[in-house]
Amino acid sequence: MADANELQAQLKILCDAYAAQLPEKMKQLEQAWEQLPLDSWDEEGFQTLHRMVHSLTGSGKTFGFSLLSDVARNLEDHFKQLAQAKTTLNEQQRSHIQGLMSELHQATLHRDAPVGDQTGLTAVVPLSQSLAGSKHIFVVDDDHEQAEELKVQLCYFGYEVSVFSNLADFRLAMQANPDVTVLIDINFPEDSQGGVQAIKEIQQGRDIPLTVIFLSAHNEFDARLEAVRAGSIAYLSKPVNIGNLIDKLDNLTSTLSSAPYKVLVVDDSESLSTYYAILLEQAGMVVKVVNNPLDVMVPLLEFTPDLILLDIYMPECNGLELAKVIRQLDIFVSIPIVFLSAESDLDKQLFAIGLGGDDFLTKPIQPQHLISSVTSRIQRSLILRSFMVRDSLTGLLNHTAIQDQLVLEVARAKRQETSLAFAMVDIDHFKQVNDTYGHPAGDRVIKSLSRLLKQRLRETDVVGRYGGEEFAVILNNTDGVAAVKVFDTIRKSFSQLQHFADGKEFSVTFSCGIADVLCFNDSPKLGDAADKALYKAKHFGRDQVVLANDPAATRL
Ligand code: GH3
Ligand code: MG
Ligand code: MG
Repeated sequence: MADANELQAQLKILCDAYAAQLPEKMKQLEQAWEQLPLDSWDEEGFQTLHRMVHSLTGSGKTFGFSLLSDVARNLEDHFKQLAQAKTTLNEQQRSHIQGLMSELHQATLHRDAPVGDQTGLTAVVPLSQSLAGSKHIFVVDDDHEQAEELKVQLCYFGYEVSVFSNLADFRLAMQANPDVTVLIDINFPEDSQGGVQAIKEIQQGRDIPLTVIFLSAHNEFDARLEAVRAGSIAYLSKPVNIGNLIDKLDNLTSTLSSAPYKVLVVDDSESLSTYYAILLEQAGMVVKVVNNPLDVMVPLLEFTPDLILLDIYMPECNGLELAKVIRQLDIFVSIPIVFLSAESDLDKQLFAIGLGGDDFLTKPIQPQHLISSVTSRIQRSLILRSFMVRDSLTGLLNHTAIQDQLVLEVARAKRQETSLAFAMVDIDHFKQVNDTYGHPAGDRVIKSLSRLLKQRLRETDVVGRYGGEEFAVILNNTDGVAAVKVFDTIRKSFSQLQHFADGKEFSVTFSCGIADVLCFNDSPKLGDAADKALYKAKHFGRDQVVLANDPAATRL
């Protein structure tokens, strides 16, 4: 990600390139104007001229030519009136346009103060910096045994844990690892408020607060208040309820570990689309640019953006038509589309929104405004989408969503000739768990497996809850044999997890069936094969992973 200086340097290059192209653009514009016939109305010629002026309105100010934008807008307003009448231009109209064209020419020589002085870009804070949490955890507790026990449980959930028994060692380690999440006791032998004090000192020297959870045997208001003052995000009473702790940690890390937001920019202007891409990338997003709207389909399906930033006036196909086409594809029905245009006419903006856009940003747009609009649109859409496609107990994709996703991922794997495996997981003798320990305990077991899957699998793997105690996972770029290894490791970890109910401790296992897209080449076949392999795993005695068509598994 670019730092502020690098960003300024990139933007300066863009502005300079824009300035260098201006004389040529002006020449073309003047030619288009001179070629308009004197004795008739030439609709096509006039539209070409209008489009050229429109592009200056939208781009000038962004690249340091505010005056140019303003004059171009005046000229455009005039063009709009003429375009309604569609009659041969009279002498007075021609000379008015000629005057504005000269003004436009003059304005190309009028460059604003350098970019850094006016855009306020230093205020653009990369998103990931404002997010807290890390997979690396420091557990600080003078009760070494308890700390080690916590470490074992956290490791099962994929966290990397270091344990410290005294504050001096912890302070020293913090200097080398500023990005950890800290779980810290309050009371230490050397100072009954030692944990709070140490954290307060550490927080003082930081721009981004350290993520801290306090663990304490004391539950009084005063202790909680001090913890908040030290910047804690949670306060857990000892003995620590591990499920509760993992929930808190997962919530923190899920924002950070979730993939960066993906934005598809469709704009026929290369310089403007590059400009948007640089700004959004600076904010931590991944951006793909399409300059020809007719080329949008492949990036749409391959890149699967979280939001589309769409220019309105493009020669081959305008943004409004494109938005309609995209909206007619089932999988993009709910994708946020933000129109970007120099169009300042409110009626036209509303019309665009009526056609399927979610928002309308007027060029030139302030960098901060662009980033915050895009971010808030994406966040809102992800939350709404999660209500539609997520299972409420586990937060995983629901049955329909994982099936839809499988169709998409299988098509992608075939197109890109990459490997893909599909796994079905079912908890063993789960009915007995419910019968012996109660339904709420069963729910906790389901949640713990869901967490383990999310944590142990990669960002690119897709995890869903298929049904009651059944899960389905799509592993991209993974063949069946590799997938078996992954699931066998998860299987072992899961079987070692300790669950608690009514003061009793118990453990649970799962069985897993896996199918490889190389052997089963469409999603129904893949699902069916994984299901049959799961059945074999159950039949062979449970607590195991079976690969479909594995010769060792053909005894059935
Ligand atoms: P097997 O090893 O063959 O899979 O045996 P099993 O007992 O796990 O399988 P079975 O399909 O007979 O039982 C699944 C049980 O899961 C029955 C159902 O009551 C329970 N179940 C389904 N959904 C939930 C849920 O959301 N919460 C809880 N606690 N139990 C659930
Ligand atoms: Mg079961
Ligand atoms: Mg079942």
